[in-house]
Amino acid sequence: MADEKSPRPAVEEVMIIGSGPAGWTAGLYTARANLNPLLITGNDYGGQVSITYEVENYPGFPEALSGPELVEKMKEQAEKFGLTVEYDHVSEIVTNQHPFVVRTVNGKEYKAKSLILCTGARPRFLQVPGEKEMTGKGVSYCATCDGFFFRGKDLVVVGGGDSAVEEGLFLTKFATKVRIIHRRDELRASKILQDRAYANDKIEFVWNTVVSSINGNGSVQGISTKNVVTGEEQELKTDGVFVYVGHLPNNDLYHGKLHLDEDGHLITDKKLRTNVPGIFAAGEIQDKVFKQVATSVGQGCAAAMQTEKFLAELESEGYPGVDVDAREFPSYGAFVPQVTEKELVPA
Ligand code: NAP
Repeated sequence: MADEKSPRPAVEEVMIIGSGPAGWTAGLYTARANLNPLLITGNDYGGQVSITYEVENYPGFPEALSGPELVEKMKEQAEKFGLTVEYDHVSEIVTNQHPFVVRTVNGKEYKAKSLILCTGARPRFLQVPGEKEMTGKGVSYCATCDGFFFRGKDLVVVGGGDSAVEEGLFLTKFATKVRIIHRRDELRASKILQDRAYANDKIEFVWNTVVSSINGNGSVQGISTKNVVTGEEQELKTDGVFVYVGHLPNNDLYHGKLHLDEDGHLITDKKLRTNVPGIFAAGEIQDKVFKQVATSVGQGCAAAMQTEKFLAELESEGYPGVDVDAREFPSYGAFVPQVTEKELVPA
């Protein structure tokens, strides 16, 4: 962390926002490029992987490891090469002047020649009656965090993707029964997870079904469901509801400043550039296709390498100093991403 012994420069070469796999990788690469990077963790330290019980598809770890363990290893490696980490949350970025300005909830203000945005995504809510009121009282979005409290209980998991099935499997360590409620009759989850779930005696599937409300008085006692094919409505008793119906990009900082696609992801080109020169993005804030630890790491690496190139070009142009009007700055102009997000999505 920054302290009196290691004062930060008046203008940072590069600031990284977010502490998931993309952020740590960007930190590692920019540190090794001697750019003295500063990473602001954000409130959700470690990002989504930090609430993952077990990561078994990140290369190099054949025995698998927990999400928090992986985050600590990534952090340690980046810090070893000189990454500075601030435990703070960014409240505002100013992108129409250069150097860019970054303000935080702790009242800090930074200036930076380049930014790598790795703010990731957060769980999507079901948006049904009872969900908000009983979050933390039987409704959860994190099996790793809360599963332990449901020992011997009957649970429901909503969703049909990798998260729902993987976390449903994890919950069988505690629960007597886990019902996975999915709106279709076919899982989106990968085959290996499907096979494990079908082979697990504690898991039951409820197909073609959506949750219409979560019921209880202070804590979850049941759910109301509707079969989307037959229209049949049912009441199911349960002690807890774990929601895994996808994610939403954490884009609050970017509205009206950077180009977003129709789902709210930052639009970047193949070089991870946003529409503002010097601002790059990596991980789930700009990726709505792959969303893996391995791909976020790759994107963090690529964004860092592009940042290094941008800063070298800036240097060769003769960096004009601080508080320069963006319009007078040589790298600024009518920048248009070379590839739109739409074109990046496989047909
Ligand atoms: P996801 O793949 O987007 O799946 C979301 C699931 O929720 C889908 O089955 C979807 O149904 C369902 N859903 C969406 N909105 C709903 C609603 N309003 N009501 C009921 N159901 C709803 O999200 P995810 O499972 O969180 O995974 C996100 C990404 O992370 C994926 O790329 C995944 O591969 C990756 N991931 C990987 C691993 C792993 O490799 N071990 C683990 C976790 C996540 P439909 O299927 O009908 O659309």
